[in-house]
Amino acid sequence: MQFTDLKAQYSALKSEIDGRIQRVLDHGQYIMGPEVAELEMALATRTGARHCITVSSGTEALLIALMALGLKPGDEVITSPFTFAATAEVIVLLGGVPVFVDIEPDTCNLDASQVEAAITARTRALMPVSLYGQVADMDELNAIAARHGLAVVEDAAQSFGATYRGRHSGALSTFGCTSFFPSKPLGCYGDGGALFTDDDALAQAAREIRVHGQSARYTHTRVGVGGRMDTLQCAIVLAKLARFDWELGRRAELGARYQRALAGLNLGLPAVRPGRDCVWGQFTVFVDQREQVQAALKAAGIPTAVHYPGPLHRQVAYADFAPPRGCLQADLAAQRVLSLPMSADLTEDDQDRVVAALAAAVGRRD
Ligand SMILES: *Cc1c(COP(=O)(O)O)cnc(C)c1O
Repeated sequence: MQFTDLKAQYSALKSEIDGRIQRVLDHGQYIMGPEVAELEMALATRTGARHCITVSSGTEALLIALMALGLKPGDEVITSPFTFAATAEVIVLLGGVPVFVDIEPDTCNLDASQVEAAITARTRALMPVSLYGQVADMDELNAIAARHGLAVVEDAAQSFGATYRGRHSGALSTFGCTSFFPSKPLGCYGDGGALFTDDDALAQAAREIRVHGQSARYTHTRVGVGGRMDTLQCAIVLAKLARFDWELGRRAELGARYQRALAGLNLGLPAVRPGRDCVWGQFTVFVDQREQVQAALKAAGIPTAVHYPGPLHRQVAYADFAPPRGCLQADLAAQRVLSLPMSADLTEDDQDRVVAALAAAVGRRD
């Protein structure tokens, strides 16, 4: 059993993917070929965002968003400590200060009720993470940001395809940033990512920053990066879009199936808030004695992962930014989270094996 089954997905899409790749090889425009604009159009339409700008990775999308917003050294960005390092990394790379605010224990997303207390005169932006595929509390975060004149950048690396009160992850705030890393809900076959925004000037800035700050060829209007997404990777995402809605439906069914089958076991289940869905970028449960549970599952041939074993404020690289009062819920989650096999191509038989092995490992609740 695979943690994320990308082989079955390729088999199902082989002719579409191979055909798309062959067309790029035939036209030979490997950089900024026609598939780049085609994908940007398709994703903007899908999310309802006015602009989509593809970039070389999800990390680069986050970096370019903050550059386009003009983040300066010493500026503070409020974010979650319970995320992949890229979220805080881009803030620090620009000389900014990540201000870690604790998470909600049941969704593992930023606790919006604690954000306002962390705002100072130096705060420039909020950077919530839509972890595990469920959008963070964006309406509340946008309202707080509006009251204080802040930008909001959604780290939607795990949540592309998710909806929030009928709107789409990525298109909910000043910028939305996603990743096409192969194991994300919508993946390519290498690195890729995208930014979304409704703001024309920010979109223009992001487009320029992506190509070394050029507003025209060899006219460097601002400092930028080499952040383009390859034509080939755009072609692969375009091919995968043909099946994406089916995959989202399948992820929803498998997520609901996990929730039903695991209810009553001696573990905690991920909460999904009303008005939201979760694309299950990860299906992550909470268990005690995680190492034993993980070992038992491994012995039964079931791969698992931990997202994430150490919150960022506990990492050496980010220790300077550890909040004085800590982040208790992030600490507790880091000890208990366990991600189970999940992808649109997970079979129900395999899922039943995961459930049976987990039931044997943790037992039933009394
Ligand atoms: C994957 C991920 C990123 C980084 O995306 P890359 O495409 O790997 O650079 C950023 N944030 C979160 C929450 C992620 O899961």
